Amino acid sequence: MTRPGPIRINATAAAPGVVRGRWTELKRAALPPPGHVTPGDVPAEVARLRAAANEAALELMAISDEVAARGHDDEAGIFAAHAAIAWDPELIGPAEREIELDGWDAIAGIQSAGRAAAARIRAVDDPLIRARATDILDVADRIARRLAGLPAEEELLPAPAIVAAQDLAPSLTATLPRERLLGIALEGGSPTAHAAILARAYGIPAIVGAAGLLAALRSAGDDAELAMDGSTGEVVVDPDAGDRARFDARADEASATRRRDVAESGLEAVTADGVPVTLLANIGSPDEAAGAVALGAVGVGLFRTEFLFLERAAPPTEAEQVVAYRRALEAFGGGPVTIRLLDVGGDKPIPYLPLPHEDNPFLGVRALRLAATRPELFVTQLRAAYRAAAFGPVKVMAPMIADSGDATTLLRLAEEARTALDAEGVERGEVSLGVMLEIPSAVLTGAQWFDRISFASLGTNDLLQYTLAVDRGNPALERYRDSLHPALLGLVRMSVEAARSAGIELSVCGEMAGDPAAALALIGLGVRSLSMVAPSIAAVRRAIRANSLDVLVREAEAALRAPSAAEARTAFARLL
Ligand code: PEP
Ligand code: MG
Repeated sequence: MTRPGPIRINATAAAPGVVRGRWTELKRAALPPPGHVTPGDVPAEVARLRAAANEAALELMAISDEVAARGHDDEAGIFAAHAAIAWDPELIGPAEREIELDGWDAIAGIQSAGRAAAARIRAVDDPLIRARATDILDVADRIARRLAGLPAEEELLPAPAIVAAQDLAPSLTATLPRERLLGIALEGGSPTAHAAILARAYGIPAIVGAAGLLAALRSAGDDAELAMDGSTGEVVVDPDAGDRARFDARADEASATRRRDVAESGLEAVTADGVPVTLLANIGSPDEAAGAVALGAVGVGLFRTEFLFLERAAPPTEAEQVVAYRRALEAFGGGPVTIRLLDVGGDKPIPYLPLPHEDNPFLGVRALRLAATRPELFVTQLRAAYRAAAFGPVKVMAPMIADSGDATTLLRLAEEARTALDAEGVERGEVSLGVMLEIPSAVLTGAQWFDRISFASLGTNDLLQYTLAVDRGNPALERYRDSLHPALLGLVRMSVEAARSAGIELSVCGEMAGDPAAALALIGLGVRSLSMVAPSIAAVRRAIRANSLDVLVREAEAALRAPSAAEARTAFARLL
C-alpha cells in the first residue's frame, strides 16, 4: 500500500512531553447481538461455553498471581474471586440451560445467566453481598468477550504504543498499564477533561481535539508512526525524516527540562519581592505522592479520591482508605493532605455504583449530591480521613457544593463519622473541613457561610464549565475555555474577598493553578496557595520567582476589566 505521506494536524496541547512511535486505536468493540443455535449444534455450543469459562478463570488466576507478585494483595484477591465466579456452577449451569432449553448461543447464554445471577444478588439485604452483582456481570462479560474473540480490557494495550481514540473514559485511562502507555492522542476531549488531567499527573504526553486523526491513522496503516508534542499540540501521522529529527530534538529538550525541574525542586516559591506562595500537588493515588515531593510540592491540595474507587469491582473499605491516605501523609512527612470526598457522576461513572440515567450528568446527581441516597459512602470516607489524621495533618473538602445547605451536609456527615469513631473508641485525629468552589452559586453566596468552614478551594475546571456553559469534554468550544476569562477572574476575586473576611484559607486546585500565566493572575488577585499536577510545579515556580507582586496586581486588575481572555493571556504571557 502506498502511504499518503506525512499528515500534519493542529491539535490542542493537553499534557507536555514529546513522543513518536507505534500507535494503537483503543476501542472497546461491542459484543455481537444475541444469536441462536440449531438443535444439532447445542452440544458443541455448550462445550464452547465450558472451555471459554475455564480459560477465563485460568486467565484471572494468572492476573491474580501477577498482581500479588507486585505486592497488591487486595487487588489480587479480587481477581481470584473473579476466577471462582467463572468456575461457579451457579453461573455456568444456568448458562448451559439457556443454550440447551432455549437455543441461545453461548454468548447470549452467559450474558443472560450473568444478568439473572446479578439480579438475584441485588435482591439480598446485605450491601456487601449486593456489591458482588457487579463482579458477576464483569466475569460474564469476560467470558462472552472470549467467546466472541474480543480482547479483555487488560489486553487492550499489549505492547508500548501511543493510544489514539475518539475519547477516553477516566476509568480506562487510570487502568491502562502506564509502562506501555507512550502517549494519548484524542480526536475529542479537552485539556480539562479527566483523561487529560490524569495524563499530566502521570507525566504522559497528550493531545486532544485532533480533528481527523483516526481517519489519518487508518489511511497511513498500522506500521506508520505517530509523532506528537503535548506542549504545542502538533501532531504528525507518518512523519518524514525532517519531522522525526525535529520531534527527537524536542524530546531531548523536554527531558532536559524534566531534569532541571527536579534540580530546582528545593527553590522557594516566592515572588521577586519576597511574597511566599504555597505550591501543592493534585494526586489521584498515593503512588503519585513521592514524585510530587521530588518536584517540590509541600503537601496535597487535591487528592481526587474517586480514582481509588474506579480501578476495582467494589468500593474500597474504610481500612483500605486509611492505608491510602496514610501513605500520602507519610510521603509528605508533615505536609497537609487534602482529601476530596468522592466525586463520581459527570464523566466519572463507577460500574458498581449504578446511577440512574441522566440526560445531563454534569448537572445531575454528581459528587456530594449522592449523599442524599448513599450517605454511607461519604461517612466511611470521612471515618477513614479522621483515622488517617492520627498520622498527620488531614483536610477534607467536599466537591460540588452549591450553597450553605451543602456545607451543612458536609458538616453533618463529618459529625456522624466523628461521633461513631469516638463511641467505638477508635483512635483518630482532627480534620479541617472545607469546600470546593466549583459552582458559581457557592462563590456568589460564600460571604454568608464561609465562617462555618475552615477553607475553600477553587475548582476552576468546573467553575469555568458552569459559568460559561462550556462542556469540559467538547473540543468544539475551545475558544471559551481560557481560564483568564474576565467572568472567571471576577469569581476568583469574589472568593478571595469572601474568604478574607471570613478568615478562612483559600486555594486554587483547578488546572488554572498549573498554567504559569494563569497562576500569575491568581496571585495578582490575592491567592497564595496553588495546587496542581506535580509536573507543572517547576514552571509555575519559575514564573512566580521572576515577578513582583505589584506588577501582578496591576495586570490582574486590568485582566478583570479586559473584554476577553485573550488580552489577559497576552499580558501575562509577556511576564513568563
Ligand atoms: C475542578 O473542577 O476544577 C476540580 C479541581 O475538580 P475536577 O477536575 O476533579 O472536577
Ligand atoms: Mg470539579
